[in-house]
Amino acid sequence: MRKILHADCDCFYAAVEMRDDPGLRDLPLAIGGSADKRGVIATCNYPARRYGIHSAMPTARALRLCPELKLLKPDFDRYRRVSHDIQAVFHELTPLVEPLSLDEAYLDVSEVTRFQGSATWMAHWLKQEVLTRTGIVVSVGVAPNKFLAKIASDWDKPDGLFVIPPTQMRASSRGWRSTSCTGSALPPRPSWRV
Ligand SMILES: [Mg+2]
Repeated sequence: MRKILHADCDCFYAAVEMRDDPGLRDLPLAIGGSADKRGVIATCNYPARRYGIHSAMPTARALRLCPELKLLKPDFDRYRRVSHDIQAVFHELTPLVEPLSLDEAYLDVSEVTRFQGSATWMAHWLKQEVLTRTGIVVSVGVAPNKFLAKIASDWDKPDGLFVIPPTQMRASSRGWRSTSCTGSALPPRPSWRV
């Protein structure tokens, strides 16, 4: 049985900005293009999400929803440097890292013997190490395949750690099928916990 971690930073660009300027933490904050250039929101923090703002939303609309929104232009060089530091932690666990974007990757830990081979312990370690070394919070999903690991990393956000053990694979897939036609992006979080 394979063991896959899906690691996904919480509101990554906004998290980097808040790390580097803690005064931004409690403000509704978005990273994106300016409204007068038909820009869109790339990422926003959780205070901004409470106004209904989300990524891919036109900046003009976000500013209508929250006129006091703090809007920053993305600084991709800085995000890339932080991403590099985070990926270095991933590579300490396993060489089998498959990045999906600056803030997201699959880690195949099937052959890792550290932590007595426990993928759950590995996920705990990963979250702690990334936070300690980079100041960035990462949510992790653990599952026997990539598809479920990616879903699991979203179930417990922010600062999530959700494990789908092999014994629950079938139930998780059923949950996915029964909700996939409702238009929601993800199935509801299951009631069982590990
Ligand atoms: Mg992310």
